[in-house]
Amino acid sequence: MESPQSPRDIISQSASGLSVFKDRSKLSPDHVPSKLPYREQKLRELGVSFKGILESPGASSLRGLIVGKTGTGKTVTARVFGREFRELARNREVKLEYVHVNCYRQRTLYMITSEVAGALRLPVPMRGFSSQEVFRAINDYLEKRNMYLIITLDEFDYLINTAPPSEIYFLVRLYDEIASATKRINYLFIVRDWSTVNLLDKSLRDHVVRNVIEFKPYTASELYGILEDRVKEAFHEGTVPSEVLELVSEIHGYDRGGTGNARLAIEVLELAGDIADKRGNQVITREIVKEANARASPESAIMIEGISTLDLHELLTLYSIIRLSESKRGEYLTMGVVEEEYASICKELGEEPRKHTQFYEYVRKMKMMGVLDTKQSGRGMRGRTTLIALNMPYSRELRLMVESRIKAMAV
Ligand code: ADP
Ligand code: MG
Repeated sequence: MESPQSPRDIISQSASGLSVFKDRSKLSPDHVPSKLPYREQKLRELGVSFKGILESPGASSLRGLIVGKTGTGKTVTARVFGREFRELARNREVKLEYVHVNCYRQRTLYMITSEVAGALRLPVPMRGFSSQEVFRAINDYLEKRNMYLIITLDEFDYLINTAPPSEIYFLVRLYDEIASATKRINYLFIVRDWSTVNLLDKSLRDHVVRNVIEFKPYTASELYGILEDRVKEAFHEGTVPSEVLELVSEIHGYDRGGTGNARLAIEVLELAGDIADKRGNQVITREIVKEANARASPESAIMIEGISTLDLHELLTLYSIIRLSESKRGEYLTMGVVEEEYASICKELGEEPRKHTQFYEYVRKMKMMGVLDTKQSGRGMRGRTTLIALNMPYSRELRLMVESRIKAMAV
């Protein structure tokens, strides 16, 4: 047993800010680390994909496609590549800009174009213009300044699934629409898997699937290396022993049955740091890691971001799945059962349930967002049906979070 501390000691310790963290911001998913171990080869491949911009600028609109699961370093690698390649181009007198767009946040063609225009500081106000007009203005802007552009469309799967095909067509086959001898706009597409890319029309796919670079989930030893670097930046010396890094890496390493997701591994360390701070521990232990790990979930970051964008009936659909998952942990639910639960929740709230096609659309959307997982049932007694499950373990926190969103919206 620990010797009990006086209340004054406890308060003075927490108020004086004693913490295992040295610089917590280094653990945020947006932080670009100074080193990118295990992705050197991917940086090289990206360099090859876009070297045409340096060798014969404007000769063609170059394309690259990164495919890889969550947390495999796609976003961070693209950002580092963009930053470095831009410098390299400038040293060679090629004026290149790099713009990174997250299609999950910028979820329409219009928002994407505004984002690009904003990043380039286009001098004209773009309100009232169509996306197509804005794109022409971007092209003219580049033309006038003899500049080139790489646009990264991160989470492009999401756009493929939600934007009208005409918008995807316009973006991808840009130079069919904009007559321009010099091709100044190049794309790097980033997707989580092939299934959505395969949904594209062949005429579009050929403009997307070029220079494919696959990102594999990290092994335990790779995660160890990544975490080791990050710990030096974010934690005070001596607060994260190597046995702790070993445990996190072994739990999440792909070769050990984990998901190979570096974001999740970093998140677990951050949570563990929080727990240690709250308890006044100056060192993170394996026990603390186990606890933190139980709380972190693979898709939690995506979930929380996603849930905040759902409208009322989408939330009610999600809530019905959460309620059912409470007793049937980890099991897939049939579409019919979920729809019944949804209808009864609507009734409880005095809301008119949406029609089946709309309900189906909600499920599909949340699958795309990574909130839900769906699959087709085998040919059983009742024929084929869609099976649905949460894309994360059930937790009370999740249920409460969705409940409070619903309360806030169903006034
Ligand atoms: P993805 O876009 O594939 O989901 P991210 O690029 O967002 O993955 O990476 C998830 C987290 O892991 C980020 O915090 C990122 O900085 C970190 N990370 C991923 N790969 C590496 C690496 N090779 N070296 C250092 N940090 C990495
Ligand atoms: Mg990403």
